[in-house]
Amino acid sequence: PSVDNDSYYFNSYSHYGIHETMLKDKIRTLAYKKSIEQNVSLFKGKTVLDVGCGTGVLSIFSKKLGEAKMVIGVDDSNMINNARKICQANGLSGEEIVLMRGKMEELELPVSKVDIVISEWMGYGLLYETMLPSVLNARDKYMSKDGTMWPNKCSMFMELGEDGRTEYWKDVYGIDMECMKGEIEGERWREARVEVVEENVIVSNRFNVWDCDLNIVKDEDLDFDTTFTLTVKNDQKINCFIISFDVDFDLPRHSKVSFSTSVQTTPTHWMQTLLWLEPSTVPEMKAGEVMKGDMRVERCRGNHRDIEFTIDWRVEGGEKRGKQKWAIVS
Ligand code: SAH
Repeated sequence: PSVDNDSYYFNSYSHYGIHETMLKDKIRTLAYKKSIEQNVSLFKGKTVLDVGCGTGVLSIFSKKLGEAKMVIGVDDSNMINNARKICQANGLSGEEIVLMRGKMEELELPVSKVDIVISEWMGYGLLYETMLPSVLNARDKYMSKDGTMWPNKCSMFMELGEDGRTEYWKDVYGIDMECMKGEIEGERWREARVEVVEENVIVSNRFNVWDCDLNIVKDEDLDFDTTFTLTVKNDQKINCFIISFDVDFDLPRHSKVSFSTSVQTTPTHWMQTLLWLEPSTVPEMKAGEVMKGDMRVERCRGNHRDIEFTIDWRVEGGEKRGKQKWAIVS
């Protein structure tokens, strides 16, 4: 939609399909599970808030595996009705796991402080959906001073790629379809694409553009400017930027658990985010050549759940440069 519409957003989480996709993403779900199993001392006897509990999976992990004293699960989609059934079916009473339907920002919790705020808020390209501000709001209202967010860190990365797409239309099963190129690319350079990128598409280092400490980050830090330096490995045309992210459960004196949505690891349901260059600006680069640039990542003005990337890039020691804007939109 062109305007933010919470009922549209929460409806999208009311269908079982999206939850099935998330649960079946083993990289995601097993990382959360392992982060609790390997850090029982962090959870044992504690009060946990699960922001956006969905099916209740993280609440139940926290209670059963982490031995939390009490878990409060909050969700504003219909899925919370299933979460109630799932807790019951697994012998968990309404006192052990308190489920509350509503928008996190608008609810009054039955406790004044919690020790851990667990949540799976990440969207495409990390920040798409803009759920993180709701989790930060809950943190600031309810998390005790020595409490923690879980996960507590995340980072965004950028790479250069060449995926052969500019060539694709020249020979589609032996048919010349080159006129398709302009049309399709005409859309592409405004809309970011989310798909699984093959490892051989990557032609540069994976540059860490942004690190986020979830225990201290502020809402306004989520629109940010960053710089990057990317070095190509071989003589190479470049036709896209690739955005991916990592998530860490990483507290001192605790067992570290991480997962990555990089091209180099098993694909997750977040896949990768591709930002295509306008064909007229596609640079040819030589092995060892460096591209530098500035990137701005921000919530779209029209719909704050959409995320915009603006990249101003230049190849060092030459004339080649460009500036483009993309958005991840629903
Ligand atoms: N924790 C579950 C579901 C994660 S999906 C799991 O790991 O499988 C994110 C969930 O957060 C969705 O069910 C969505 O409805 C809910 N959500 C997002 N923003 C919210 C908010 N502000 N208040 C309440 N629930 C929210």
